[in-house]
Amino acid sequence: KERNPHESEFHQAVKEIFLSLVPVFAKHPIYMKNGILQRLVEPERMINFRVSWVDDLGNVQVNRGFRVQFNSAIGPFKGGLRFHPTVNSSIIKFLGFEQIFKNSLTGQPIGGGKGGSDFDPKGKSDSEIMRFCQSFMSELSRYIGPDTDVPAGDIGVGAREIGYLFGQYKKMQGSYHAGVLTGKGLSYGGSLARTEATGYGTVYFVEEMLKDKGLQFHGSTVVVSGSGNVSIYAMEKAKQLGAKVVACSDSNGYIYDEKGLNLDTIRQLKEVGRKRLSEYVHSHPDAEYNEGSYGIWSVPCDIALPCATQNEIDEEAAKLLIKNNVKAVGEGANMPSTLEAIDVFLNHGILFGPAKAANAGGVAVSALEMAQNSARMPWTFEEVDAKLQAIMKNIYKNSVEAADEYGEPGNLVVGANIAGFLKVADAMLTQGIL
Ligand code: NDP
Repeated sequence: KERNPHESEFHQAVKEIFLSLVPVFAKHPIYMKNGILQRLVEPERMINFRVSWVDDLGNVQVNRGFRVQFNSAIGPFKGGLRFHPTVNSSIIKFLGFEQIFKNSLTGQPIGGGKGGSDFDPKGKSDSEIMRFCQSFMSELSRYIGPDTDVPAGDIGVGAREIGYLFGQYKKMQGSYHAGVLTGKGLSYGGSLARTEATGYGTVYFVEEMLKDKGLQFHGSTVVVSGSGNVSIYAMEKAKQLGAKVVACSDSNGYIYDEKGLNLDTIRQLKEVGRKRLSEYVHSHPDAEYNEGSYGIWSVPCDIALPCATQNEIDEEAAKLLIKNNVKAVGEGANMPSTLEAIDVFLNHGILFGPAKAANAGGVAVSALEMAQNSARMPWTFEEVDAKLQAIMKNIYKNSVEAADEYGEPGNLVVGANIAGFLKVADAMLTQGIL
């Protein structure tokens, strides 16, 4: 905390991991030596840069850009870009730190990184978004490459932004490097099933948790926060598996319909129209819209999938979910539950799928996109989806086994953290003090 004052989200992420590792240090003191922990929390490189651009009225706007290249022990830096006004170095470092262990868990050869800007895409015209992305990439391009650092999307960065970023990178390099970004459009090197991967993967992971207890999505009531990329495909897969999705949210409020939400309308509003969820009730008058996104946790459900943003479930919300008989929580977003909320879930025996494990499907398919780009050979949707399912099952199995081995059976927070850590730490030990 002294070295990194004012970085509360980063401290929270480090605390969660390091507390989980205590049984590892007791069993294998080697991981306490060689400065492994001190090196893990210090990014290999942290880049801050100015992003200036001209808005539609001819005014100069200045934003701040970030890229943290946290750890490359097991592969090139890999992690998304977030464009949101709340972005600062603490947010980027917490996300980059988490990404190290998540990427390790996928079994793919990718290190941990993250980036973004405090730019707010809301209300900006298409040309403003393009000019911003071009300016952002003009600087970022110096530090990335298919074998160095491969960014992708995150909050506020979807297919449109990745397209503009890719175009600018190509122009600046004067040559075509398909593997420099993932989440690309299908016409220029994207992978089928990447758009769906994080949401689908979260549901596949929760399905494994449920199966172990003789439960299933079929016939369950599900609440999903957010209505962006992760949420929409988590809702889609949950519905395909026979669940009823009764509520979702955006940053202004949430919609609720006990008979189940209409996903086509949500997609039309959010993916196509870039509109507010409040408009949902115009075409579905039986549904209700409530101001304030936090209220979504008061909706009774069997399964809760927080898929919006960090710290959206606090202790109080966790208790409310339990009071309303929630059975399983799967984190589609990064760090959506506070440390206190996680304790409440674990102490009440709720099946809890932590973000690092449950939402790793997105970056796993990004790694598959890199593989397809290197081989110059696209795979079918079914092939990628089958690999995604296998990866999610494997992450679940490895997390369960690590939790068992280190004396915390059923605790997937500890299991995922340990399984992710061991591979990275072993690679760091083998490569010497760097
Ligand atoms: P999007 O930008 O596509 O969607 C984010 C959604 O969350 C939007 O509906 C947004 O609402 C909503 N939201 C933002 N802030 C809040 C808030 N405070 N309360 C309620 N809703 C809010 O982002 P993604 O779906 O890509 O990302 C969501 C989460 O998943 C993030 O934590 C991200 O880091 C994580 N993640 C994403 C991956 C991916 O592949 N995209 C991979 C792994 C993790 P509004 O429309 O009002 O902005």
